[in-house]
Amino acid sequence: MTKKRMKGGKMQDFLAELEDDESTILGYEGVFLSGPGSPQRDEFRDPDRPMSPPSGLKERVLFLIRIMPHMRRIRRAQKQSVISLDTNPENPRTIADDDFIRDLELTLTGMGFSEIGYARVCEDEIFKQKGILYTNAIVITAPMDRAKIDTVPSIDGSDTFFASYAMLGEIVNRVADHLRAHGFGAQADPALGGKVSFPNLAENAKIGLRGRHGLLISPQNGPCQRIAAVYTSITNLPVRSENPHLWIREFCMTCGECARHCPGGAIDPGSKRRRPFIDAKKCHPYFEEHHGCGVCIRVCPFHLQGYETIRAMVKERQDSAVME
Ligand code: SF4
Ligand code: SF4
Repeated sequence: MTKKRMKGGKMQDFLAELEDDESTILGYEGVFLSGPGSPQRDEFRDPDRPMSPPSGLKERVLFLIRIMPHMRRIRRAQKQSVISLDTNPENPRTIADDDFIRDLELTLTGMGFSEIGYARVCEDEIFKQKGILYTNAIVITAPMDRAKIDTVPSIDGSDTFFASYAMLGEIVNRVADHLRAHGFGAQADPALGGKVSFPNLAENAKIGLRGRHGLLISPQNGPCQRIAAVYTSITNLPVRSENPHLWIREFCMTCGECARHCPGGAIDPGSKRRRPFIDAKKCHPYFEEHHGCGVCIRVCPFHLQGYETIRAMVKERQDSAVME
């Protein structure tokens, strides 16, 4: 292996292979493509700073032992999500009854997921040069290990990030297979390398709300989760009409812990903009140097104290404001 390849080869190969696989989706009949307002997936990554494995010997060994097995699972799930598209039924069913949806959620319970929601995807949410076969989305989250998040940036932190990506990739493929077995069309979109912005999709599915750090905050996991989706021919998914988590936006305006502690200065301390939440060009130098970061998750009160505690505190504040 050449020195150049050792520096960034594996990671770059990983991403290049993913892009190749995804490009085959664009050739499917009826594929939905991005719209004029769509972001680039690379908008969330700095293309001038390719991902690379650690340079120190000890760190590299740890990376190989702890992280590479997850990456292999992630890659397998990504490949499977593309290959399996050929097994979609020719004339897929489009209507699912309530029992089927209930059974699907019960089936998922045994797979280790956290939360499930439903959303419709509009073209401006699909990343440029990416495609999805159906605009009805089943959105699924899986938890990260909170004790490991407490140690970030660390190999334990990277371990839980990649383990969740791997688990979710496998879950969405199983869900897609389950749907196909019942006559529905399906496309799994594994957690690493989504065709849409998953935090945004999960917010649209009303699973939670994006915090100032751009990540989904949900009742079960706070900000400690990964997200993936299955796009399906089912047109009558039980999409929720109201998002009960909108209050988080106001809380973030009074908090700002993630912006204060971000070692890269990548989070705007005052912005109310919905996107981008994080300046990737400022996040990535630190992220790369430490082979993962996640400080913005570690310091978030929704991780430290939990969703319900924060909600109770906000309600108390609101009640006492009314009394005054
Ligand atoms: S991952 Fe780290 S550097 Fe990037 S935004 Fe979060 S705290 Fe900042
Ligand atoms: S750290 Fe504070 S401001 Fe940042 S996302 Fe969490 S609650 Fe919002």
